[in-house]
Parts: sequence; C-alpha cells; structure tokens
Amino acid sequence: MHIGRALPPAASPIGPSEVISGVCGIFRGQKELERFRSELKEHFGVKHCFLVSSGKAGFALTLLALKELFPGRDEVVIPAFTCYSVPSSVIRAELRIRLCDLQPDSLDLDYAQLSALLSEASTARQADPSPVRGVTGSRVKTCDAINSSRDSINRLLAIVPTHLFGFPSDVSRLRKLVQDPGVTIVEDAAQAMGETWEGRKLGTLGDVSFFSLGRGKAFSAVEGGIILTDRDDIADVLDRRAGRLPHYGLWQLITLVLKAVGLMFFTHPLFFWVPRSMPFLRLGQTLIEPHFPILKMSSFQAGLTAKWRERLQKLQDTRKKNVNRWIAILEANGNGGLCFQHRQSLGLLRFPVRVRDIEKRQSLLRESAQKGIGIMPVYPDSINRVPELSGEIPARAFPVAEGCARELVTLPTHNYVTNEDMTVVGELLSRALA
Ligand SMILES: *Cc1c(COP(=O)(O)O)cnc(C)c1O
Repeated sequence: MHIGRALPPAASPIGPSEVISGVCGIFRGQKELERFRSELKEHFGVKHCFLVSSGKAGFALTLLALKELFPGRDEVVIPAFTCYSVPSSVIRAELRIRLCDLQPDSLDLDYAQLSALLSEASTARQADPSPVRGVTGSRVKTCDAINSSRDSINRLLAIVPTHLFGFPSDVSRLRKLVQDPGVTIVEDAAQAMGETWEGRKLGTLGDVSFFSLGRGKAFSAVEGGIILTDRDDIADVLDRRAGRLPHYGLWQLITLVLKAVGLMFFTHPLFFWVPRSMPFLRLGQTLIEPHFPILKMSSFQAGLTAKWRERLQKLQDTRKKNVNRWIAILEANGNGGLCFQHRQSLGLLRFPVRVRDIEKRQSLLRESAQKGIGIMPVYPDSINRVPELSGEIPARAFPVAEGCARELVTLPTHNYVTNEDMTVVGELLSRALA
C-alpha cells in the first residue's frame, strides 16, 4: 500500500463552495433543476434535455424509449472496448448487445466492420433463437410475434458511437453509413463534455446523446446523467418516462451529500491514497451491474453544478495544456506509444498510451502505484471477453479492442499534475517504451 501523495487517474474537483451551492439547491428544489436544464439547452443549442441520476441511467432510459418507439428492434451496437456501464445498460433495457471493433489509431468504431454489420442486419436472416436475458437473470422472451414470423425484419435499434477519453468519434461518417431511419444514433459523450469537433460540440452529434457527471468524468456532480436530443419523437417518450422516475430517497440524498464532502478531500493527491487503500470502495473497478437505480436528478446535484460553464472551461483548458505536454514528452522519447491521431488540441480526460511489451507495462503500472503518479490501466478487458456476458455475445475476436485492454495505460491530465510528476512519468515511460 502506498501512503502519501498519489494522483488520481482522472479528477474533476468539487470544492466547498460547490457543496454549499448544492445544499442551497436542495432548498431551491425544482427551480435549481430548471436552471441547470435551461443552461444546458442554451449552451448546447438543443431542444430537449433530461436530467437523471447517472450516465448509465440516461443511456438505459434512452434505450427503453427507443424500444418503445421501434418495437421489434432489439439490437444495440456498442464498441467492443468501452466502459462496462454501457453493456450493463443494454442488459438493463433487456436488449441484445452487438459489438463493433475499434480503429487502432483513433479508437473510433471500425467503419468497415460496422458497414458489414449494417448490411447483414438489413438482409434476411434467421431470428436468433437465444432470447434476451432480463435483469433478473431469467431468460425472458422479447422476440415478439413479428420477429419470429418474419425473419427479414431489421432488428438493429441503435448504434452507440463513443468519444473514448474525449477523442471525437466521426458521427457524420456514421450517419452516412446508416440509411435506415429506424436505427437511432445514440452518442455516448460520457467522457466528452466540453469538447468540440469540427466546430461542433460533442454531445450534439447523435440523434440523442448522453453525458455523465460521475466522479472522474470531465465535470462532476458526484453522479448524474444528462440526455440531450433535438428529436421530438424521442423526446416525447423520454419526457413521459423521465416524468415517472422516482426521486432520490432521503437516505440516498444524505449519501450523496456525504460523498460530495468526501470527494472534496479525497480527490486531492494528498488524500487520494486513503480511498484507494479501501478495497470495499472498489475504486477504478468496472463491473457488469445492470441493477443500478434510474432516478430523477436531485436538486442537490443540480446545485453542485453552479457556474458549470466557467468551471468546465477551466478544467478543459488545463487538460488541453497537459495533453500537449504529454505529446511533447512522448515525441521527445521517439514517438513510441503515441499512436493516436491528434488533429486538434484535445482536452482529454485521461491520456492513453500503448505499451506493447506486457512485462514492461506491468512494471510501469507497479512503479506508478508505488510512486503514486496516476498511470492506470483502462478497462480490465474487451467486452467480448467479459465472463459475465458470455452467452450474451456471439463468440468471436475483436483484436483491436482486445489489444487496447492488454496494452493501454493512461496518464493523468488534470490540474493536480505537476512538472515533477511529468518528469517522473516521462522517465518511467521512456523505459517502458524502449
Ligand atoms: C462513465 C461512462 C458511462 C456511464 O456513466 P455513469 O455516470 O458512470 O453511469 C458510459 N459510457 C462511458 C464511455 C463512460 O465512460
């Protein structure tokens, strides 16, 4: 166990003044939520906005709305390397997971594989005999009469382009590929709040999109989810479903306030070792967990977002500056590990580096843990290899996604990273990439 200064892999600090405005938010109630909602609509220039308890709650609610709008469709295409919350939400909505591999240099979807998948979906094929698994774990039958009698029906419901770490996914390219109006593009902007791409704000590119306000995302309200859409048909169903969601209970609200106070301290490098040394907090662990609550965002969370535009801008400016410095350090090292295209200055949440030598990667991670400098692995495995999902996903290989799980590490880009940290990381990296 490392006691003493330790950098978290990603951070979006919550300070005492935010906690105070959160508590004031509780007393302002609905007005505070309306303020946040209207600021979001104005900032992103979208017609509809819904506020919920987490990113995965927002994604699951969106899928449930789409399922209602497009009955008979039950397949959702997600990247084969992504946050485990994404497949968890698909399972929660009792839909089927279909995977698409990534491109090694941009971490965007592999468009060749995706177009093959799309043409396969639009041609006649046998209805898959395996029923969708429900959240209770029981095998529920969601293939309705239409599906089983007419097997030529297109079952694709949604495709989920994802801005992993904040690298923009080329949603316009995806839109050209998707000809079928019944296939909805759900933009996973959970890690990309505050970033732009070709002058457009990420989170406004899909038919519907969601952000996460979780710990360690671009901007945090302890937890929280935002759904944005310009589509009236989707918004109508979402509006009805979001209106029926339960509120945070009193105990859940108290827990949120305590977590906010905890984050105020424990995101700081001087205290981060404390939560990190408590295994029951399961920090940094990703699990397949479809039983998460889907609640209305609380006015406490909305209150925590006071002055969010200025704060997000500042956080992104720092991340951009640090990303450019990591690029410079890797370039000075002879460009090893730097295999991503950098078309513009990006405010990445974490800076990914590929370390191909497995042994060296292990010792890099070990040394980082000892020195507390925040180099971390990303997700433990690609989605096709997650044991809990075996049987949900047809067995096949996703080489790029599997390589990402095996080789990627991330460098922190937040405001707590100092020049000395950068020097230490630079030295460790040059050894790992040699
Ligand atoms: C964090 C994350 C989510 C889920 O957001 P939560 O608020 O943690 O539920 C979804 N997709 C991606 C890519 C994420 O990083």
